[in-house]
This record gives sequence, C-alpha cells and structure tokens, in this order.
Amino acid sequence: MSEILYCKKCNSYTLDKICSKCKEKTILKKPARFSPQDHYGKYRRELKKLEKKG
Ligand SMILES: [Zn+2]
Repeated sequence: MSEILYCKKCNSYTLDKICSKCKEKTILKKPARFSPQDHYGKYRRELKKLEKKG
C-alpha cells in the first residue's frame, strides 16, 4: 500500500516524495480517521462499506 504524502506548499496530496509542482519535499501525512475534512478517510470508509457488501 502506498503512503500518502502531502505538500504543504501546494496544500495537496501526492504519492511522490518530491512535489512534482513545486519540487518541495513532501511530508508523510497519515489520514485522520475521524476528521470530516479528510478525503482519504472518507474514501476508506467507502471502501469498507463495499467490502462488507461484497
Ligand atoms: Zn508542491
């Protein structure tokens, strides 16, 4: 499973260790499970729903 990295400068998520837009080093940002602002958390919840159904 790929780690989700984050560029503070662009305020965006990426899988690259260096941001392809601004060449800044990205940081590892673990998705906060209970944060409503976290898109990946939402995505993971959707996946879990699908797993239960299937
Ligand atoms: Zn960037």
